[in-house]
Amino acid sequence: MGDLSFRIINSQKQVRTGELKLKHGHIQTPALMPVATKATVKALSAEDLKKIGAQILICNTYHLMLQPTANLIEELGGLHTFMNWDKPLITDSGGFQAFSLGLGKEHAVGKIFFPDESQSSGKQKGKSIVKVNDKGISFRSIYDNSHQFLTPEKSIQIQEKLGADMILVLDECTSPLSGKEYTAKSLKRTHQWAKRCLEVHQSNQALIGIVQGGHWEDLRKNSAQFISSLEFDGFAIGGSLGKSKKDMHHILDWVIPCLEEEKPRHLLGIGVVEDIFESVQRGIDLFDCVSPTRLARSGLAHISPPAGTKSNKYRFKLLSTKYRNDPKPLDPQCKCHICKNYSRAYIRHLLKTEELVGFNLISFHNVYFMLHLMKEIRDAINKDYFNQLKKEWLN
Ligand SMILES: [Zn+2]
Repeated sequence: MGDLSFRIINSQKQVRTGELKLKHGHIQTPALMPVATKATVKALSAEDLKKIGAQILICNTYHLMLQPTANLIEELGGLHTFMNWDKPLITDSGGFQAFSLGLGKEHAVGKIFFPDESQSSGKQKGKSIVKVNDKGISFRSIYDNSHQFLTPEKSIQIQEKLGADMILVLDECTSPLSGKEYTAKSLKRTHQWAKRCLEVHQSNQALIGIVQGGHWEDLRKNSAQFISSLEFDGFAIGGSLGKSKKDMHHILDWVIPCLEEEKPRHLLGIGVVEDIFESVQRGIDLFDCVSPTRLARSGLAHISPPAGTKSNKYRFKLLSTKYRNDPKPLDPQCKCHICKNYSRAYIRHLLKTEELVGFNLISFHNVYFMLHLMKEIRDAINKDYFNQLKKEWLN
């Protein structure tokens, strides 16, 4: 077992707040972790993230093992020193990239596939650069096209070099368009890999097991029971989450009762407002999502309800002409440093002219907005008005 302890502070039915103690600090849950794929949250410094109140960041094994390499990061003192971040970190295992550069690319889908085109991911179909067999995952580097082979053992060794507080087992992430037969076969492999990761894991980093099984009830329950029976420090729910948000809710309803209650639960790669409320209600403690910074880069700013409309909830297009001379802050209800000091008109001007600091200002606000929402959710659970807060936001 790794260096992790988890204490549930308050719970009503499945909803809960907790405190997760890790080597580099304590995290209040439910928590959303900003995504620092290449050892940076895009456009934000470590100082910005501390001002925003980020408790933990998630970095990406696939990208870092290729560039600048795990050996180099280890030589420079590990990820915490390398990126000047002394709070908790988690690294993923590379399993998700096997999907996003493999089946995800071939099928042009994300973790959830929306058959309705209006909700489609806008992804382009491409050729997979990944092959998976029982030994591991072979793929091409997106940096220099070199051939790479990632095994469960190698993923753990790389993550030990990177030195995050929590690390994830290597899994195979299936596509929402994978059939049941393939998903079942892949699940067997993922379970074998989970055991191999446990066997090779030597550091005091907390090791998190991943539940897979696509959108099939029997496979998901089987996976949750299997992963829960092993000596993991916590659980993550990964992979395909079906063909609608409803499928995702069913998956959580099947999986969560099978997981040991006293260990933290992370819903991988999910974290927009609606999903956070629905998942917290079902017992999720940890989220990670690129959405706040990705939206920022396309000029979308988060805004508190009720200003949002149904089609673009909690966000607005700052690049729209109507904000050209708008002196108001991005979100009049937001208390972040950016909203206290800068106008929509100014930030819009910076983005229009591609002035780099514009990306910093809007990203700062968007990440603050989401982390502040998480704090509101924790307060609501602790003071017993979570359902009321959920209604206020989701109506
Ligand atoms: Zn703000």
